[in-house]
Amino acid sequence: MEIKEILITSQEIEIAVDNIARQLNEHYKTDQPVIFVTILKGAIVFASDLMRKLNFPITLDFISATSYGSSTKTSGVVKILKDLDTPIENQNVLLVEDIVDTGLTLKYLKEILMARKPKSLKLCALLDKHSRREVDLDVDFLGIKIPDKFVVGYGLDWNEQYRYLSHICVVG
Ligand code: 5GP
Repeated sequence: MEIKEILITSQEIEIAVDNIARQLNEHYKTDQPVIFVTILKGAIVFASDLMRKLNFPITLDFISATSYGSSTKTSGVVKILKDLDTPIENQNVLLVEDIVDTGLTLKYLKEILMARKPKSLKLCALLDKHSRREVDLDVDFLGIKIPDKFVVGYGLDWNEQYRYLSHICVVG
């Protein structure tokens, strides 16, 4: 797999992150800290840019799940690799994801986190491959719709490679 083209430049990413931050700042008018949950590893770059544009208090936690092996096809199986460190009962939780593809990962994570009875749970994702959706899922804060192409960069990998790229690129 090698880089074929730049799909979204770092400047375009920054505009999308600004837009999401503006919506979150509008939505969370609260003094109670929101638990900002980054889904490892792909969302770390997005999450670290996004959190610095927020004007309400957050605390950080991380969760790791996988539905992908080293290939670019979903296995349909979602496994928790690392759970949250903090209890979320009666807390406001924002789940931050890099990309929604089939929707299986976010739907599954939403279900297990809802079972812990948070005060609120909102979903946020930078990229949306809407044509690939297999499950019904409302994502509350979405960045950029992209075509059905496998992308890397800005935290996203292919086989653990390319996460460090500042643009979002198509591999093939
Ligand atoms: P879903 O469960 O929605 O099918 O897949 C979500 C996960 O699949 C994402 O968190 C991401 O790790 C991975 N994924 C889906 N599409 C892509 C893609 O185009 N590039 C990369 N690098 N990962 C993807």
